[in-house]
Amino acid sequence: MKKATHQATKEHNTTLVLKTIYHEDQISRADIARATSLTRTTVSEIVTDLIGVGLVKETGVAPSTIGKPPIYVDFDAHARQLICVDLSGDEFQGALVNLKGDVLLRHSLPVGGRKGDAALLLAHRLVEGLWAEATAPVLGIGIGTPGPVDTEKGIIRQAVNLGWANLDLRQSLGAHYTVPIHIANDSHVAALAECAYGGHGRSPSLVLIKVGEGIGSGIVLGGNLHTGDGFSAGEVGHLCVVRGGAPCTCGNLGCLETVASTRSLLALLRQQGLHFPDSPLGRALSSRGATLDLLREFNLGADPQARALVRDLGTHLGVVAASLAGVLDVHQIVLSGMPSLFGETLLDAIRSEIAARILPDQARETHVSFSSIGSDIVIQGACALVLRNELNLP
Ligand SMILES: [Zn+2]
Repeated sequence: MKKATHQATKEHNTTLVLKTIYHEDQISRADIARATSLTRTTVSEIVTDLIGVGLVKETGVAPSTIGKPPIYVDFDAHARQLICVDLSGDEFQGALVNLKGDVLLRHSLPVGGRKGDAALLLAHRLVEGLWAEATAPVLGIGIGTPGPVDTEKGIIRQAVNLGWANLDLRQSLGAHYTVPIHIANDSHVAALAECAYGGHGRSPSLVLIKVGEGIGSGIVLGGNLHTGDGFSAGEVGHLCVVRGGAPCTCGNLGCLETVASTRSLLALLRQQGLHFPDSPLGRALSSRGATLDLLREFNLGADPQARALVRDLGTHLGVVAASLAGVLDVHQIVLSGMPSLFGETLLDAIRSEIAARILPDQARETHVSFSSIGSDIVIQGACALVLRNELNLP
């Protein structure tokens, strides 16, 4: 018992020291002791261990007027590499990433409608290609994938588009690679990326809503990902926002995905062209076809039809954002993916929906913004997933 406690204390102290070094450019052992309230001896022992495993390096001598000048230490971001994979799009994307989340190299493979074993083989090929290019020891493999994922076992419960059900991806990859493998839902890892790299501080609470062909969200409470009892927390794409609305792939009517996914938005845009062929938007649709860029351009130009479409999109996203903000009392709602094309028009519509649906004080404190991470958000999230599981970072 005593031994176990000693071991737990040592691990806790090591994490504390590593986090402190990770978040500073360079720092002396004395300043680590001050920042962590650990003794100089404890800090020195831990730093020696961390230098031994290569995660920390000495970087130079600090200027000092009295006594022996202290030596700076710094986190070595290149000591390990991570293989990070995003299986959520039309292309499987992968990257080799360093310990600070910087992408060093990328590979991508088009899915081309592959399902089942063929899609699994493609995922294997992607990891194999990245593994072959690694130039430092690999800390782990992180994967963001559609569908609910049993993150403890590494089993994908269901990914409809890829034809996967109860796929033990960890075991499948684990037969070839002996490093830790962490797998989670793509929206969940995107929330981890926002938490780690979105500039919200060290232990933020936030909800990230990821909008593309599908819609999902990730919920981070006090720095920890909330996955839910059945690993389906944040499954907002199938919340009903239009009573008696269009049929959804899930069998219900009027789900958020029927009005706010990329495909649904384009279908609504096309309808505008059919109903009003002689309007400026209608004419542009018949000559250029329905694209998100066209809608963005007409929204920017204050075209009334485009504005109405974008406001409707904001209203529907706002219904869901308001419910999340109201129930969880989380003040940061971050949108990732397609919505960022529509700027303030969209944000205003979401904000007014939130104001109309929850307590005024709560609404005032709820901030809605676009993620600054961009299309790498799942790759970055896969990196954050491995880092937090293996090194308790960032
Ligand atoms: Zn649905």
